[in-house]
Amino acid sequence: MKINEIIKALEEFAPLTFQEPYDNSGLTVGNRDATAKGILCTVDVTEEVLDEAIQLGDNIIVSHHPILFHSLKSLTGITYNERIIIQAIKNDIALYACHTNIDNITGGVNQKICEKLGLIDNKILNPVEEKLFKLVTFVPEESVDKVRKTLFDAGAGHIGNYSSCSFNTSGIGTFKGGDNTNPYAGEKGKLHYEKEIRIETIIPDYKLREAIQQMILSHPYEEVAYDVYPLRNTFSQAGSGMIGNFRKPLLKKDFFELLKNCFTIPCIKYSGNLPEQFKKIAVCGGSGSFLIKDAIKAKADAFLTGDIKYHQFFDAEKKIMICDIGHYESEQFTKEIFYSFLTKKFSKFAVHLSQSVTNPIKYHF
Ligand SMILES: [Zn+2]
Repeated sequence: MKINEIIKALEEFAPLTFQEPYDNSGLTVGNRDATAKGILCTVDVTEEVLDEAIQLGDNIIVSHHPILFHSLKSLTGITYNERIIIQAIKNDIALYACHTNIDNITGGVNQKICEKLGLIDNKILNPVEEKLFKLVTFVPEESVDKVRKTLFDAGAGHIGNYSSCSFNTSGIGTFKGGDNTNPYAGEKGKLHYEKEIRIETIIPDYKLREAIQQMILSHPYEEVAYDVYPLRNTFSQAGSGMIGNFRKPLLKKDFFELLKNCFTIPCIKYSGNLPEQFKKIAVCGGSGSFLIKDAIKAKADAFLTGDIKYHQFFDAEKKIMICDIGHYESEQFTKEIFYSFLTKKFSKFAVHLSQSVTNPIKYHF
């Protein structure tokens, strides 16, 4: 198997279109056409993780944080990330990062946090916009089921928890074939009227191109008429943060205990209002302070994230409890997500979970 097959699977799971503009997810070091020998899953790539990969004979490291985030002007081994890149190249190890794209999908970082906390009814806190298109085509009546099914199979028609969503209206299409045509109905050179169904459905941008190709293949006409409309709608299946509920509200003491155990943190750093009971919880793995307003608007009792700055702690006012659970701590489960996805997808292939705790921050009590 080529490394590219692993990359394709990861990018079907967490499409690169969902990464933030500042991000650098994807293959950053290595050759996608090389033969894959084994995969190591980690949160960060450190020199220790690289040694682990060498020991295990793995030649692709899948990490949450990209090692190449800013452009490099030299590669001399002065900094730790330059040394890692040099060592990776010397040892033919590919480095692949799945960063903000796995933050922003359902089934990603935030859903994992919700699962670990035992939250239910989980929804994206701040859904993305402008990732959806309306796709419309016109099909003769006898082929409408086939073309519509092709569109659904290619990923069109998902709205929330509903699939196979479309709207269908009938009308009359007209066409007149030129010299080099072989019309599906009627004769070339003569205006033809055909009873057609207008199928309209919705599709996310990363599935659009493939869906159009499949639609054209399944459509009986030589020339397929179709329209693609960009939409301003939000896409409820992707975006930042997540919000969910405990099955039963938790008392403060139990909530704090849960956070300590769940994220392996020795203390809880927080500000704002402490409700009698905690029921609705918003979360965002990594640096999520940009979502404080959304968590307040969604009426969460608490918002859990990492990297909250001093002045941002004031934003809680008396409306919410803001809790800094640590950047690494909130993202520590990403390697589990990669591991379980890849072991399921490539069940006969060597996939390893890194044993290194790459968090550079230590606590002393
Ligand atoms: Zn992070």
